[in-house]
Amino acid sequence: MNKIIIIFGPPGSGKGTQAARIIQKYGLNYFATGNLIREESEKETELGKKFKEILNDGRGRLVSDELVEQFIGEKLKNLDLAKGVIFDGYPRTINQANSLKNILGEIKPLVLILKVDTAAVIERILSRRICENCEKVFENPAKMGITKCDACGGKLVQRTDDNADTISKRIDIYENETAPLIDFYQKEGKIIEINGNLTIEEVWEEIQQKLESDD
Ligand code: AMP
Repeated sequence: MNKIIIIFGPPGSGKGTQAARIIQKYGLNYFATGNLIREESEKETELGKKFKEILNDGRGRLVSDELVEQFIGEKLKNLDLAKGVIFDGYPRTINQANSLKNILGEIKPLVLILKVDTAAVIERILSRRICENCEKVFENPAKMGITKCDACGGKLVQRTDDNADTISKRIDIYENETAPLIDFYQKEGKIIEINGNLTIEEVWEEIQQKLESDD
C-alpha cells in the first residue's frame, strides 16, 4: 500500500475523522496544517498572532503561501517518509503542491478525494465540535449526549471558523483554490475518489477497501 497519502475534500467532508482511522490502522504520521495553525494561533508568537487574525476574521481565507512555508517548511523536511504520512489540509495551492513535490522527490502520493454534497457538509460543520485539547473531531455530539472528549476528557468546543457565514466562504475557497490541485495530481500521483456522503462507518469501509486493493 502507498503510505504517502493526501486527503482532499471540502471543509466538513470528514477528512479529519477518516484520517484518524487511517493513522490508527496503518500507523502513519499525521500532517494536518489546520491543526498546526490553530495550535500556533493560541500562542503569543509573531506567526501565532497573524494566524489568529486570519482564522477569526470571518472570511474563511487561507494563510499565504509565504507564511505557510515559513511555518511548516522545517516540519515538512523532517517528516519520516519511510513510516508514511497522511497530509490533511496540505497542500492547498499549486505553490504548496510544488513544495511538497520537492520534498517527495520520486515518491508519487496517493490522493484520496472525499466527494460530498455541499448542503450536507454545511449541516455537518454546524453540528460538529472538536476537543479543545487534542482536536479530536465529534460529529453531532449533542445528538448522542456526548459532552466531553472520550480520548482525553477535554471540553468540546466549536471551531471559531465553523459558523454559517464563514463555512460557505471556506467551501468556495476549496472549490476555487484547492480543487484545481486534483488536475495537478492526475499527473503527479494516483487519485482515488470516495463517496463521503455516507455514514462514517460506510466511508471508512470504502477507504480501507480501496487503499488495500491499490498496488
Ligand atoms: P482546516 O482545519 O484544514 O480547515 O484549516 C483551518 C484554516 O487554517 C484554513 O481555513 C486556513 O485559513 C488555514 N490553513 C490550514 N491549512 C492551510 C494551508 N495548507 N494553506 C493555507 N492556509 C491553511
